[in-house]
Amino acid sequence: MNPTAALDILREKRLLAPETLTLAITGTCNLQCRHCWVNAGPSGTVSAVPTRTLFRLLEEFRVLEGNGIRFTGGEPLCHPDWLELVRSARALGYRSISLQTNGMLFTEHNVAALRELDFPGLTIQISLDGATAPIHDLVRGRGAFAGALDGIRRLRDGGLGKRITLFMTEMRHNLEEIPALLKLANELEIGSVATGTLVRCGRAAQGSPVAPPTLEQYELLVHRFDSDPPFRELYERLGNVAALEWRRETSPRTECCTFLQNPYLTPDGRLYPCVLCHADRYAVSGVLQKDLASAFAEGAPLWDTLKTMSQCRAEANAACRECPGRLTCAGGCMGRALASSGDPLAVDDRCDVRQAIYRRNRSITSTRERHFPKEFTEDTE
Ligand code: SF4
Ligand code: SF4
Repeated sequence: MNPTAALDILREKRLLAPETLTLAITGTCNLQCRHCWVNAGPSGTVSAVPTRTLFRLLEEFRVLEGNGIRFTGGEPLCHPDWLELVRSARALGYRSISLQTNGMLFTEHNVAALRELDFPGLTIQISLDGATAPIHDLVRGRGAFAGALDGIRRLRDGGLGKRITLFMTEMRHNLEEIPALLKLANELEIGSVATGTLVRCGRAAQGSPVAPPTLEQYELLVHRFDSDPPFRELYERLGNVAALEWRRETSPRTECCTFLQNPYLTPDGRLYPCVLCHADRYAVSGVLQKDLASAFAEGAPLWDTLKTMSQCRAEANAACRECPGRLTCAGGCMGRALASSGDPLAVDDRCDVRQAIYRRNRSITSTRERHFPKEFTEDTE
C-alpha cells in the first residue's frame, strides 16, 4: 500500500501519526523472569524474527515518517543480528534508537561497536529491579544482578554510561529500593533512572508471587521525598517515578491517549496501537507477512474505536467525576486498565495511589491558599 494513503487514513480517523515503533525482534531471552509480561524465556515459543523481515520493517517505518525505534524482545541481544539492526536504523536516519535489555549480554566487542556508532540519539534501557542482588534476583534469577552490573560497567568504561537509563519495575518487595537505586546510578555515572508499576499480565498474572506496591508504600515514598533532601536532590537530577511526577501535573490533558504515536509490534507479528495497550481484539495480526502501511491502514478503524472509548473514560466512571485529579488523570492509562481488568472503560489499576496523591495536592494547595491568599501572592510578585 502507498504509505501516503495509509497516513491519510490515520489522519482521517484523527489518530496521531506513528513516531516511535517498539519492535520486538525476538521472543527468546536468556532469563525467565517471574514478572515478564511477554512470557519470554530461553525456550520461548516465538523465536527470532528473520533479519531480512526486520530490515524491511525498519525501512517501511521510516518511509511512514517514523523517527524512533525501540528494539525489545524477549531480550533483543539474543537476536543474532541485533547490532546490524541498530546500524541499519542509524543509517536510515532514525533520530532516536533505544535498546531495552537486561544488560547481561554486553561484551567488550559489542560495546566497542556501539561506541563506534557515535550516535547521540542512542539510549540503552537496562532493567534493574533493585539496588542489590537479593532484591533483583528474586524475580530475575540468581546471578542476574551480577550479570547486569557487569554489562553496565562495561558500557560505562566504554564511554556509554550517560546513554544508560536504569529501569525498575515497581513491586511490593522493591519499592523501598528507589533511593538506593538512585545512589547506585550516581556512583556508576549512569544517565538516568526510571520506574513503572508492575502490570498484572503475562507471567505476572499467572499466580506469580510478585505484586504491585501498596498505597501505604507509595505514601511512604512521597513522605521520604519531602523529608530527605539528599534523596530529593538525586531524584531531581536522575529520576523519573510516576507517583512523584503526578504531584507536579497541573495542566489538563488534551489527549487521553497517545494513539498512535508509539505502536508496538510483537515477534509473532501482532501490531498494537501502544506498547501498554496490547489487547488482542485491537491488534492487527500477520504483520510480518504484509507491508507496514497496509497494517496501519487495517488497524485504523479498530484504534479509532479505542480512542473514542479513551475519551469517555473519565465521564463513564463515577469515581473520576468526583476526583480532584480528573482533569490531569482523566481515568488514567487505558492500556493498564485493559491489561489488568479486561475492560477499557475501567479506571487505571493505580487509581487508589493516584487519588491519594491528588487529594494530598489539593489539601496542600488549599492550606497554602488559606495562609497566602491569591491577592497577597499577586501583590508581592
Ligand atoms: S522480563 Fe525481560 S529479561 Fe526478564 S524474561 Fe522477560 S524479556 Fe527476559
Ligand atoms: S485517580 Fe482514579 S478516580 Fe481519579 S481521575 Fe484518575 S482514574 Fe479516575
